[in-house]
Amino acid sequence: MSVAAERTDAVTAPARGLVGLVGDTPLLELRSVSDGLPHRILGKCEFLNPGGSVKDRIGHRILAEAERAGLITPGRTRLVEATAGNTGVGLAVAAAGRYRLTCTMSSKMGPEKEALLRAWGAEVVRCPYEVSPDDPTSFINTAKRLAEQDPDAFFVDQFNRDWNVAAHYDSTGVEVLEQTGGNLAAFVAGVGTGGTLTGVARRLRDAGSPARIVLADPVGSVLAAAVAGRPQQAAPYSIEGIGGDFVPALFDSELVTDTVTVSDADAVRMCLTVAERDGVLVGGSSGCALVAARRFARSLPGAGRDIVVLLADGGDRYLSTIYDADWRRGKGIS
Ligand code: PMP
Repeated sequence: MSVAAERTDAVTAPARGLVGLVGDTPLLELRSVSDGLPHRILGKCEFLNPGGSVKDRIGHRILAEAERAGLITPGRTRLVEATAGNTGVGLAVAAAGRYRLTCTMSSKMGPEKEALLRAWGAEVVRCPYEVSPDDPTSFINTAKRLAEQDPDAFFVDQFNRDWNVAAHYDSTGVEVLEQTGGNLAAFVAGVGTGGTLTGVARRLRDAGSPARIVLADPVGSVLAAAVAGRPQQAAPYSIEGIGGDFVPALFDSELVTDTVTVSDADAVRMCLTVAERDGVLVGGSSGCALVAARRFARSLPGAGRDIVVLLADGGDRYLSTIYDADWRRGKGIS
């Protein structure tokens, strides 16, 4: 057979735009995390999405639905969103060449995601971190106000759009089921908006899966306590993208079967361990979820079950924080 003929056989259709490459992320067994456990800890590699995080899934879905609903018009609408950075990047990927983008981010977030957003041509407005969610200067209220002030703006509003959950119900949840068959014992993730956990958990439940749904929550967040129906005073913490000082509307806490709270130090040390031992550079929310998965796995009876952990983004977004020795020293993390 000629080389040309062989090539024709092997050819798969090229992606039509970067959004064509979103999703269908692989599972990766993390040996350093599974070490000494009777179960397998499998990372869902969301850092392999084209924009580098799980949030590419909702950027694409929300824009497609908003276009279908006639809420936004290419060339005219300015997208405005409150983000820890990753949703902004997911929107930038989906909006490229069609929409202007303005993102509000709290001052807590490291510089890498802001730099990425600016590279994609987005405008970034920083807002104070240690203010209550009702404060007019909070990152969410600032985004709302900016959108209200511009007649051509559309507030993407990931914290309240059902399309956020739908993206995960229709993609992430289906993938987890297909990739684990009947052997799935648990799905472990943190909650930012709750879109990922709620969407995946609903899909698992609707498919009849008995898998446990484990919330990984940073110490300082109010969410794990909220699941237990306990009020909790919020306190600052360093892990970006998950946890928070209010319970987001999309987070269906009744789906959660187990909660594990994780300190900044434990989450950061886990990131360093998987980088060193598995060669995988993940973000702090992934480190937090991996610590939670390991603790949960210890209490899970039997052997050989699969525990899927959301690896929401990659470590290159945290080079000046988690992966910087001076930053760690400043936080008292050794
Ligand atoms: N991890 C990281 C790093 C994130 O940026 C986010 C989104 N804020 C999440 C996890 C949580 O995803 P969700 O909003 O779907 O709860």
